Amino acid sequence: MLSITDPISFQKQTLLWREQGQTIGFVPTMGYLHEGHLSLIKAAREKTDKVVVSIFVNPTQFAPHEDLASYPRDEEKDLSLVEKLDGDLVFLPSPDSMYDSGSATWVEVPELARYLCAVSRPIHFRGVCTVVSKLFHLANPHYAFFGEKDWQQLAIIRRMTKDLMFPIEIIGCPIVRENDGLAKSSRNVNLTETERVESVHIHKALELASDLVQSGNTNVEVILQKARDYIEQHIPSGEIDYLEAVDPDKITPVSHIEQNVLFAVAVKFSVVRLIDNQCVRL
Ligand code: AMP
Repeated sequence: MLSITDPISFQKQTLLWREQGQTIGFVPTMGYLHEGHLSLIKAAREKTDKVVVSIFVNPTQFAPHEDLASYPRDEEKDLSLVEKLDGDLVFLPSPDSMYDSGSATWVEVPELARYLCAVSRPIHFRGVCTVVSKLFHLANPHYAFFGEKDWQQLAIIRRMTKDLMFPIEIIGCPIVRENDGLAKSSRNVNLTETERVESVHIHKALELASDLVQSGNTNVEVILQKARDYIEQHIPSGEIDYLEAVDPDKITPVSHIEQNVLFAVAVKFSVVRLIDNQCVRL
């Protein structure tokens, strides 16, 4: 398995593979890999000749008050996990090499970044789109794999890829959860013991909302209020950042449930903010 830190050397390698007729599957991550990331790598392994993983904690998607400094890292373990899954290349750039002092270009999809995470993290998706565009130019993939855990991000990346005509197929992969239902996240390690116990109710609140829809409720306000009450009662250590029902593609609020709906939630704990979602298909 190759491990490369220099962006141009990485680009040369992926271009060489393309010249040789190999298909490339790309999995961008921020590292501290868990089963969620590994499911994307496995999906890439099944579909493509060369599996490329990037590990980069992208500073431009964090606001100054957010958890960039405490974001967990373990490069050595990550490399061995990718190697075990028969990955071909891990790209581990430094922030300076990705954003040299002359870097002045941003990529944004404002239409899909008006609600959910965009409200409390207004610069987040601009950072994500910019770094993913750069990574796409370096990795030259045929397919790129993203998790539905970050549903809004996936919707934004799909639109960006289409609008900027990247010749890349975006593949969304289902959320991988702990046995108790908590969505796997690198950030879970920074929860206190009490927060970890309570965090299981994030998913349960989404299931409650989903069950209400399945049993015929169509009033969004009533459903959301019940789910909010549930979280407030069962997660006293956390604070709801948002709990919304949105159109799964447009990421705009729905007032009445008639079609597919995405319930999405973010809960802030002492250090960590966790997100989760559930798409109900009608
Ligand atoms: P991150 O390292 O958190 O930026 O995530 C890298 C990729 O892994 C993104 O496409 C995420 O959506 C995906 N991912 C993270 N956690 C999960 C999970 N629990 N299940 C599925 N995909 C995930």
